[in-house]
Amino acid sequence: MTISQSRQRIAIIGGGIFGVSSAVHLARLGAHVTLVTEGAFSSEASGRSLAWLNSARFRSAEYHRLRVIGIDRYRTLASRNEGASWLRFEGGLTWDADDPANQIAEAFAHERSIGYDCLLLEPGDVAKVTPGINATAISPQGAIFNPGEGWVDLPSLIDILVRELRALGGQVITQAGKATVDIKGGRATGVSCANGMSIESDAVLVATGAAVPAMAKQAGHVIADGTPVGLLVKSKPFKYAVRAVLNTPNVALRPTPDGAIVCDSAWSEEELNRSSDGTYEVKQDTLRRLLSEASNVLEGNPTLELESYHCGPKPVPGDGESVIGALDGIPGYFVAFSHSGATLGLITGELIAREIANGEMSPLLERFRPARFAQATEALAS
Ligand SMILES: Cc1cc2nc3c(=O)[nH]c(=O)nc-3n(C[C@H](O)[C@H](O)[C@H](O)COP(=O)(O)OP(=O)(O)OC[C@H]3O[C@@H](n4cnc5c(N)ncnc54)[C@H](O)[C@@H]3O)c2cc1C
Repeated sequence: MTISQSRQRIAIIGGGIFGVSSAVHLARLGAHVTLVTEGAFSSEASGRSLAWLNSARFRSAEYHRLRVIGIDRYRTLASRNEGASWLRFEGGLTWDADDPANQIAEAFAHERSIGYDCLLLEPGDVAKVTPGINATAISPQGAIFNPGEGWVDLPSLIDILVRELRALGGQVITQAGKATVDIKGGRATGVSCANGMSIESDAVLVATGAAVPAMAKQAGHVIADGTPVGLLVKSKPFKYAVRAVLNTPNVALRPTPDGAIVCDSAWSEEELNRSSDGTYEVKQDTLRRLLSEASNVLEGNPTLELESYHCGPKPVPGDGESVIGALDGIPGYFVAFSHSGATLGLITGELIAREIANGEMSPLLERFRPARFAQATEALAS
């Protein structure tokens, strides 16, 4: 499929996985692409993501379908990059706390009913399917192992995609400062950057992560925002056997390409304080306890030393589902904003590129259109 008429000029704002993936897919379709970002690539959520590739547990059928297709694209990528240290499919293991809210049996029944590959395991049987786990940390209700899940190191993937974009003739502008969308005569006509640069284009994709709702609002559109602050902690490299992504009551973790682990959790995010200068204060005790929770779920309870931590906004749409597509009433203005941007990184870029370049509206995105916030947008205008 090729781009219609003369070569279209597309400007994309955002150097995370959505911006970069969309830029590459557009360039593959033959568009003249300019990718602009405020700082360096992977400077925001994509640089501090657990990046578990999954569609585990409960969600709408449409969201599940999109995520499973998203995982499929990563599987293709993995088959073309055999042995890559930055993309692994060695399963996911999850269990709940031993309390009345434990949902493992329901989650397993649900996943089985929709054909999502899963095994319900007694704690003592986990070692038969995946190594490196402390079985005594698993609650008596057992754990679900999802053999088809994996993880990706997004900064590595972004570097690879940017190289391809450049090779295809795409223009890449980093350290541009904050960019805004130019709207003239009611349509998106390009991008203006804080560094004084302007880019004229036939269409603009805003893939600015947590900044998408505020930018859409400047254009008079509401996109419901539920963005919290996220914290990702990285250990120093150590000897471990764990291969799967773990999602447990007090910590989620995965291996990294350089022999460490990264981890996050809901409780540690709640302990972050935002300072008046916009930075986040992370207590040493939070970091210490998160690494201790990680050690607790690993075989042999290794001593984990802190290498680094990163925190900042974790893009989450207000209704929890992705927002992908055109802003109604502003021809040429597109957005991409999601909570599961690692899992959806490749498929979102592919589908939005076809829509921007060729006007091909994928039914896979029907549920995720920005137009679902039309009522709030009308209220904003009145
Ligand atoms: C702790 C954590 C754990 C996560 N775990 C998972 C997981 O397990 N599985 C999963 O699928 N997803 C996960 N996610 C979500 C996933 O990482 C994000 O959805 C995804 O990285 C978002 O990518 P993005 O390109 O939309 O945004 P970002 O990566 O935030 O990129 C936005 C880019 O836009 C730039 N930008 C912003 N405003 C402007 C402007 N005005 N002008 C120019 N540039 C601008 C930024 O500098 C940045 O480069 C997690 C996220 C976090 C933080």
